[in-house]
Amino acid sequence: MKNDDCIFCKIANGEIPSRTIYEDQLFRVILDLNPATKGHALILPKDHSASLYELPEETAAAVLVLAKKLAVILREKLGCDGLNLVQNNGEAAGQTVSHFHLHMIPRYTDDGQKISWIPGKPAQEELDEVRKKLTE
Ligand code: AMP
Ligand code: ZN
Repeated sequence: MKNDDCIFCKIANGEIPSRTIYEDQLFRVILDLNPATKGHALILPKDHSASLYELPEETAAAVLVLAKKLAVILREKLGCDGLNLVQNNGEAAGQTVSHFHLHMIPRYTDDGQKISWIPGKPAQEELDEVRKKLTE
């Protein structure tokens, strides 16, 4: 299903032009307009899901299979040294476009980019408590 107010629906379905690097029945893969590195691409499902929470399981499975195929192509054609997959859900996590998308960010040695977090140092009890919460 498409959402008429969604820019990624329009891009994914070809109503707005994009730099497409791959397309099939389920997905369009485009170059990000503001790339973190050379080759930064976005996998867009053609059907609208606001985020991972709404994404159908079959699409979730297919997106990683596609990411794996594209990973090989990015490495072969761009000669990247590494690759980050990034997927933001919700404003708190940095999602700015409410249509599920998977970032593929090729990495190059010394590319100067930072895709990282500050490692925490919780007490062992805190980790135990979280595990308990998530498993009971
Ligand atoms: P996120 O912050 O995870 O929601 O990522 C949204 C991404 O979409 C950002 O990296 C933007 O640069 C990118 N973006 C937004 N509009 C467009 C567009 N029209 N074409 C290509 N990339 C876009
Ligand atoms: Zn959409």
